[in-house]
Amino acid sequence: MAVNLDWNNLGFKYRDTAGHMEYVWKDGAWDAGAFVAEPWLKMHIAAACLHYGQECFEGLKVFRQKDGRVVAFRPEANAERMQRTALRTCMPPVPTEMFMDALRRLVKANADYIPPYGTGGSLYIRPLLIGTGAQIGVAPADSYTFVMLATPAGAYYKGGLKPVRAVILDDYDRAAPLGMGDVKVGGNYAASIFAHETAKKMGFPVELYLDAKTHTCVEEFATSNFLGIKKDGTYVTTDSRSVLPSVTNMTLREICADEGRKVEVRHVPYEELREFAEVAACGTAVVVTPVWQIVRGNETLTLGDPEKAGPVITDLFEKVQGIQYGELPDTHGWCVPIEV
Ligand SMILES: *Cc1c(COP(=O)(O)O)cnc(C)c1O
Repeated sequence: MAVNLDWNNLGFKYRDTAGHMEYVWKDGAWDAGAFVAEPWLKMHIAAACLHYGQECFEGLKVFRQKDGRVVAFRPEANAERMQRTALRTCMPPVPTEMFMDALRRLVKANADYIPPYGTGGSLYIRPLLIGTGAQIGVAPADSYTFVMLATPAGAYYKGGLKPVRAVILDDYDRAAPLGMGDVKVGGNYAASIFAHETAKKMGFPVELYLDAKTHTCVEEFATSNFLGIKKDGTYVTTDSRSVLPSVTNMTLREICADEGRKVEVRHVPYEELREFAEVAACGTAVVVTPVWQIVRGNETLTLGDPEKAGPVITDLFEKVQGIQYGELPDTHGWCVPIEV
């Protein structure tokens, strides 16, 4: 089967593929999983995920590399994070072995949908764990479904990184201090969607959250972590119980450490923002989004050039992409080969 897609103009939107993987947990155990062609789930109207949000998800990418190999980028890190999220939401964790089995079967069946090397695209993988048992009282469900779906994604940046403006909206919080900010649940997105639409209407593609308790320290953007480069070159990222541990952030920190760049994971007071030479958001979908300006009420902090990302963020972006596409040596073994 040959798939004819406009590989250079895919963007980031859902497209159907050959199918997805589906596993069911019942009576204390996961089944062997099945590849399902149709992009539909049939579930009970009283399923726990629908009423009480018992669900979580992940996001990772599969790349076709320069030498033709197909690799997944740090999939075990996503499997482990999903296990932590599952425990926090009283769902049965998906063992890493099962997660990898799903990934291998899914990618093999959708090999035709992996964008060719050179287009800047990837196969985006979305694992999803939901409580499907029927109930009306609030309690963990008695059955679960694990879905892993794929969709081809295009290069986010065509012709180089594009800096954006961010806004801080003091009327909204994303995650409570002792809430669910550190796990990847849909509820965090439900909590941020109104603020996100508000920010968009104001002309800002991303919004930055401060700590919910005091609004004095930087936490993260709605869907990506915060990172800043100090004038002496130090890489700084925020430490908070309500920030999601980003695999991309971890990767960037490890690259910094390899290069002898100083890394700090700590509280970042809002007042310190003006001292950064470069600021960016980081996450799987884009790797980094440079931020050239941050607006909060009447205050505008200009941190960089609106036309061009700073040198450190540009260098880090190129290194991550270089490793993902097999153009640079993968010294940490982050790229896991997938047979197609
Ligand atoms: C998924 C996510 C990120 C990015 O994590 P990656 O593992 O780098 O993709 C950052 N913040 C939030 C709130 C997220 O949900």
